[in-house]
Amino acid sequence: MPNKKKSVVPESLDEYEAKRDFAETPEPKPIQASSHKRPIFVVQEHHATRLHYDFRLEADGVLKSWAVTNEPSLDPSVKRLAVRVEDHPLAYASFSGTIPEGHYGAGEVFIWDHGTFENLDSARTITEGIEAGKLSFLLHGKKLKGRFALVRMRGKGKRENWLLIKAKDEEAKLGSSAGKAVHSRTKRVPLSGTRTTQTKPIRGTPKPEEVELTHPDKQLYPEDGITKADVAAYYRAVAPRLLPFLKDRPVTLERLPDGLGQGKPHFWQKNTPASYPAWIPRAQLETERGKPVAYALVNDLAALLYLVNQGALTFHPWLSRVEALDHPDFVLFDLDPGKATFADLVNVAQRLHEELEREGWEAVVKTSGKTGLHVLVPWRKDGGYDEARRWAQQVAERVADHLPETATMDIRKDKRGGRVYIDVLQNARGHHVVAPYVLRAIPGAPVSTPLRWQELKADLDPMRFTLHTVPPRIARQRVDPLAALVESWR
Ligand code: MN
Repeated sequence: MPNKKKSVVPESLDEYEAKRDFAETPEPKPIQASSHKRPIFVVQEHHATRLHYDFRLEADGVLKSWAVTNEPSLDPSVKRLAVRVEDHPLAYASFSGTIPEGHYGAGEVFIWDHGTFENLDSARTITEGIEAGKLSFLLHGKKLKGRFALVRMRGKGKRENWLLIKAKDEEAKLGSSAGKAVHSRTKRVPLSGTRTTQTKPIRGTPKPEEVELTHPDKQLYPEDGITKADVAAYYRAVAPRLLPFLKDRPVTLERLPDGLGQGKPHFWQKNTPASYPAWIPRAQLETERGKPVAYALVNDLAALLYLVNQGALTFHPWLSRVEALDHPDFVLFDLDPGKATFADLVNVAQRLHEELEREGWEAVVKTSGKTGLHVLVPWRKDGGYDEARRWAQQVAERVADHLPETATMDIRKDKRGGRVYIDVLQNARGHHVVAPYVLRAIPGAPVSTPLRWQELKADLDPMRFTLHTVPPRIARQRVDPLAALVESWR
């Protein structure tokens, strides 16, 4: 149904609109949005010509914006230059992605911090404070907390220079950038389970700006002529979508250092060798048998590309993060077609979707990159893996009961016949799932690809989502089909 309501664009978004071509950039269009009950702020790490941090405060239905030249600091003695830039639409607060080459602000945008804020100036609104050249506000973010001020340095003009300053309060931290204070590479791993974890002091070299690719011409998918350089370029392109998913999850790497082919090494790596650089964070855990294992955390582009250079083709993260390893933040329904047709597989996935929707759960779907489908649901209950798995079991049983000819929960392969197996047993500590947007180690370089539910049709060919087709697909999409899930983790 076409939306007849005419959207009113605030005048202050004229400049935003004039600078961008919305047929090309994935950035949100300048559409009026209703204000939040509690105004929001966002800081976006923007890898443009020069890396900077875009600081944005909600006011009058738009985001008032400043480009901050360095990472915002919690140290009151640090004054960050903040150049006032054009107002952005409110929808920009949830934007992360790649602004294409040749366009305004070309480069990758990540959400660095976000939350709500309170205007501490009782005499003036935010807009009035900007007029007056002085703002005082309280941030409730993950990294930025407490009182801050924005102060204009010179008179008003085309290019206004402001300073972003942390006020002295309990949240202030001397001599530390916000990122380092909160986002230390030394991961503390509190654990409710019995197995122990420990922090590993990370010393040594800082993270490099660029990761050097060795043997870029090596054929990793020889049948397809796909080289290591192609694989690295692919992962660089999908990083804005992949990294928020991988962040802080222990990951098993599927490594094929010499690529696909008979007799070539193909192994699964949990433990991170000591020879890998110290700037790659590790989660120190123990296997079921009590053997120590240092899982890599793929939290940024440098770590991702370093591991790709080591021959990692596929990343298999846990369903929980280091903050709460016994509590999954999503539930996985792994639909395995076995000998069933793709049409049957789609039928089961749609039935599962209906079942979940009826209960008010927002499910997302992706191809596995091979023959299966993965349905993922944000897990918002308090329970841990056991409770999540039991819940998934009940939902899946209802689906199997409705479609007895098409779906089964039987773990015995020989009893499944031509039915789709709904696997919920991977909702367990230490188990993992193929991440969205990762390549699979089979010819054709297919990708585990998130789909809109409308795209999931019996005649869809999941093998058409490949290293070649997924980056342009992402560039065309305004919204990640996984957005509902990723948003649930904020
Ligand atoms: Mn920017």
